[in-house]
Amino acid sequence: MMRVVIIGGGPSGAAAALTLLDAQIPVTIVEQKSFPRYRPGETLHPGIEPLLDRLRVADHLHAAGYVRHAGVWSGWGGVMQFVPYGEDTSGPWRGYQASGADFDRRLLECAGTRGATVLAGKVSGVLFTTSGEVAGVMTSKGPVPAAYAIDCSGGAHTLARQLRIPIVRYSPRLIARFGYVNGRFDNPSPSIRSDQEGWTWIAEVEPNRYQWTRVTETHRRPDRTWIPHGLRDLEVEPSRSADVTWRLAKTVAGPGYFLAGDAAAVLDPSSSHGVLRAIMSGMMAAHLVIHRLRHEADAQMCASRYQDWLTGWFRHDVEEMSRAYRTAHLFGFNG
Ligand SMILES: Cc1cc2nc3c(=O)[nH]c(=O)nc-3n(C[C@H](O)[C@H](O)[C@H](O)COP(=O)(O)OP(=O)(O)OC[C@H]3O[C@@H](n4cnc5c(N)ncnc54)[C@H](O)[C@@H]3O)c2cc1C
Repeated sequence: MMRVVIIGGGPSGAAAALTLLDAQIPVTIVEQKSFPRYRPGETLHPGIEPLLDRLRVADHLHAAGYVRHAGVWSGWGGVMQFVPYGEDTSGPWRGYQASGADFDRRLLECAGTRGATVLAGKVSGVLFTTSGEVAGVMTSKGPVPAAYAIDCSGGAHTLARQLRIPIVRYSPRLIARFGYVNGRFDNPSPSIRSDQEGWTWIAEVEPNRYQWTRVTETHRRPDRTWIPHGLRDLEVEPSRSADVTWRLAKTVAGPGYFLAGDAAAVLDPSSSHGVLRAIMSGMMAAHLVIHRLRHEADAQMCASRYQDWLTGWFRHDVEEMSRAYRTAHLFGFNG
């Protein structure tokens, strides 16, 4: 039986589905929320563009007319300056300031149009073979047997929790408070500014609509009424919070399963790499599943290649981000 079940229809789940569907492998995505669901706005790194091309969804996403930007205004540990993403012979590299809810909806819609079955339900358990391999999932709508399960359930870490895989912390406990404001804000965006207790990010996700994110250690979290200076006179929507402590599942692939996106690894959003990493890991997990199912590659070899690849970039990002926090003397990353 060739079907692959994907837990969660966010960017990692949709990217995994699109990759599998290209190889004619049937896919069921189990998603507990109806889309568009509430999301923080996303500043998408330009590195996302070749991946969207590869998934053959770039046109559909360009049609949304997201705000494009060539770099970030950074007041990291000092004076505000523009930090460009870079350029090549065809011009500057440009990211997107997309409404996260709309971006995710479009990506999932593409997977549905190409033939993914999207099951509205919640994954609550795992099915196993007699030899202990993952053989599908139990959902609120009944069992979904599958040759492989890819967990793309984000910070819920559904499969890791079911399989009792430890989630290892790599930073102090960090919390992001985020929200939207509507109105005119004349400062350049996206911008990031650090201070003694944390940092604040502001991005224009649609004309005259801004998303802000404030990241601090948990014990310094701002209260629900906090709004960044400069946005306080605009029309304010209620804010929310999310755990953005750096963390990695100790095992990200095993018999019959892969973990991708935030379900495998979470970093705080200071580098705007979350969606990029989610799409990359969803595609990579799907490629290895294809390798296994279509070309009968050794299951253990596929799992260990993925483990090395994912932990490699996670450790690299942890080093880079620790260095950045040391320069800003934040979150205890001193010395
Ligand atoms: C405040 C904030 C700001 C951010 N800003 C940026 C940014 O500017 N740029 C950037 O690139 N990244 C940003 N990120 C990170 C980015 O949002 C995530 O890295 C990205 O969404 C991860 O995608 P994913 O597909 O792995 O998970 P998600 O997008 O979280 O999707 C997981 C899906 O799984 C579903 N699900 C969960 N459990 C179950 C279950 N048991 N059964 C069925 N469905 C389930 C959920 O409903 C959800 O739809 C930000 C994060 C936060 C918290």
